[in-house]
Amino acid sequence: MDVVTRQIRSEMEGASWIRRMFDAGLELKQRIGADQVFDFSLGNPDVPPPAAAAAALRDLAGKVTAPMGLGYCPNAGLPSVRAALARRLAAEQQAPVEARHLVLTCGAAGGLVTFFRAVLEPGDEVLCFAPYFVEYGAYAGHFGGVLRAVPSIVPDFTPDLAALEAAIGPRTRVVLVNSPNNPTGRIYDAATMQALGALLSRVNQGRERPVFLVSDEPYRRLAYGGAAVPAILPLTPFSLVVGSFSKSLSLAGERVGYLLVNPAMPDAQVLVDALTLTNRTLGFVNAPVVGQRLVEALVDESVDVGVYDRRRRAMAEALTGAGIPFHLPEGAFYFFPEVPGGDDQAFVRLLLEENILAVPGRGFGMPGYMRLTFCVDEQVIRRAAPGFARAARKARG
Ligand code: PLP
Repeated sequence: MDVVTRQIRSEMEGASWIRRMFDAGLELKQRIGADQVFDFSLGNPDVPPPAAAAAALRDLAGKVTAPMGLGYCPNAGLPSVRAALARRLAAEQQAPVEARHLVLTCGAAGGLVTFFRAVLEPGDEVLCFAPYFVEYGAYAGHFGGVLRAVPSIVPDFTPDLAALEAAIGPRTRVVLVNSPNNPTGRIYDAATMQALGALLSRVNQGRERPVFLVSDEPYRRLAYGGAAVPAILPLTPFSLVVGSFSKSLSLAGERVGYLLVNPAMPDAQVLVDALTLTNRTLGFVNAPVVGQRLVEALVDESVDVGVYDRRRRAMAEALTGAGIPFHLPEGAFYFFPEVPGGDDQAFVRLLLEENILAVPGRGFGMPGYMRLTFCVDEQVIRRAAPGFARAARKARG
């Protein structure tokens, strides 16, 4: 019996590698106890939200019993929240951003789906650089869009702009970049981003249906050692930012993010109106009101990034000690090292023998590597170090 569509069945059968490792981890934790498992597979931000979140919620508690205190809100978001966020994003993006350029969404994920619904015709292509966040293909696929990966240049995962230019064709609709990157932790530098912006400005000259540059940047605030994440909007007019508070405020379960349309884009307001509509008609209706209020109160705050930075250094030490080569992430909370022996699935199995959970790089469109997340206590990383070394020795034979 066909209770689900062919497309969704095939997505279910190809269950993501993150999901598979999650299940393997559950089984292992039940068998040997959670404290014996070194779980680097999941990116669930565990650093607590800023302390001001509690005060903001207490303040909100006094107001929610007013009529419509928790009612539907305007589909694009509460006006005061859009205004507060616009102020911050104007500085961050070095552009004359106003509230009317913003739509509050259900996380960056909800933002991407809302955007794809508004701009993709069936058969349109979304280009992104491998390795990439696995859900992109499904998000575009909901509307008949096709994700095509373009290589990055190793060892530091710089976008290969020549390969991108060669891949752009008549059906290209979106170039999707993600910096700081999941899974590599790479922050693309200003020169690379300027070259990318110039490339898209060239491509869009005289083009009937523009190619959008979309910057998916939920990790913007997680940057280490003074690394700067370049602004996107000054690069090219047909650009948008998709952001979120899942990581910067550890609000992942509350589902608040945003879409920001470049004020310099021709027909910017038409696109914002379309996004407001698709946000509603996809069934999101509006971003959660409690989360929006939290964002308003915490708009200039972020989690203690120092905690992630200390873990980053601990992981670098563990990998160096094991002789596993890696590019030191400049942002986000991931490492994407090359696996000893070259076979990512085989190496992840060897790590499992050491009770270490990692995700094979092929799950991100790049075999031969693995993703390690540092959303765990620093001590867990330090205790896992001997296991990494033993697995690496076995892999090298
Ligand atoms: N984009 C990337 C690159 C991510 O890694 C994630 C979540 O892990 C998302 C988007 C979705 O995040 P959100 O919780 O804001 O929907």
